[in-house]
Amino acid sequence: MKINQKRMIQTFMELVSIDSPSRHERHMADWLTIQLRGIGFAVCEDDAGSIIGGDCGNLFATWKGDVNLPPLLFCAHMDTVQPANGKRAVLDPDGTIHSAGNTVLGADDLSAITAILEAIRTIKESGKRHRSIELLFSVSEETYCVGASAFDFSKVKAKESYVLDYEGAPGQAAIAAPSILQFQAEIFGRASHAGFAPEMGVNAIAVAAHAIAQLKTGRVTEGLTLNFGKIHGGLLTNIVPDYCVVEGEIRSFDHHAALVQAERVQNAFQAASDEFHAMLSFSNECLVQAYNVSESSTVAQRYFDICRTRGYQTESVQTLGGSDNNVLAAHGITGIVAASAMHACHSCSEYTTVDELSQLTEIVIDLMLDLRP
Ligand SMILES: [Zn+2]
Repeated sequence: MKINQKRMIQTFMELVSIDSPSRHERHMADWLTIQLRGIGFAVCEDDAGSIIGGDCGNLFATWKGDVNLPPLLFCAHMDTVQPANGKRAVLDPDGTIHSAGNTVLGADDLSAITAILEAIRTIKESGKRHRSIELLFSVSEETYCVGASAFDFSKVKAKESYVLDYEGAPGQAAIAAPSILQFQAEIFGRASHAGFAPEMGVNAIAVAAHAIAQLKTGRVTEGLTLNFGKIHGGLLTNIVPDYCVVEGEIRSFDHHAALVQAERVQNAFQAASDEFHAMLSFSNECLVQAYNVSESSTVAQRYFDICRTRGYQTESVQTLGGSDNNVLAAHGITGIVAASAMHACHSCSEYTTVDELSQLTEIVIDLMLDLRP
């Protein structure tokens, strides 16, 4: 089945030209709704926008195919990271597509949306029998998947999903990703004059420093990381600071281990606060929950089989990044995160290539046409 490469490139260029920073995906969703309805999808938008403070909800679209087989879910996100305004795709003679240099390209995740659109157009034109397809185009994936987290999953019939949102070569897919916990430690000390009466003060910054020094940071163990990412406190150099707030995150492939590490962090801050007679307020939140899909699962095997048949080297990886697949997994949908024609993501050097976009489109077509149960 031959894809229309010219149309695919046009779609990608057009998608890039539509600004869609996180929480501002309105124009993107409107454009995609028109395209999907034109192909024959039933499309609805949820109210995630109002829940997360954005101007747009998640798009959920369905396309009926073979009634004897359960549908497959394909998921991609509509938002891009900053700098995201005024994006323009530049196609080089060698087939590389990059931004004009002052913004990201947005191949993360517009390559995926392009491939999905081109795949379903090609399949429709061929008249071939295909799986029933469900699409979830989410908002605000880049802000810890808050868009997908606000989605009502009762609409989804698929039990298997392909999240197209991974930086790698065709044939690579993430089958495991971590829990991500974010924490905040607020330390309340006592202000005093730094020169006249330092003995009267309780230095909140010193308490924080003491606590942090007790903890191993970075890669704590294989598969578990701890980072203190933000610290704020103090007013003037001649005042003993009475307040300091430290924020950080923990990632672990083992959800329980992440919770235990959060407890360890809290205990260190509590001990330091007790020692220096400060007060502590500690909170943590699980942003996404870990998943681990077996390599021998149908959903993984289908992808790897197809890639092998097309001559790609296959590789299953564990990633320390979260994606919408974490959210799908938490709702009982088994999925993998497949390589999606994007490189140097989250930078102004981000790029894709016409070859990789075509390869991704062909893989998506094969997945949609796979009529094995
Ligand atoms: Zn992404």
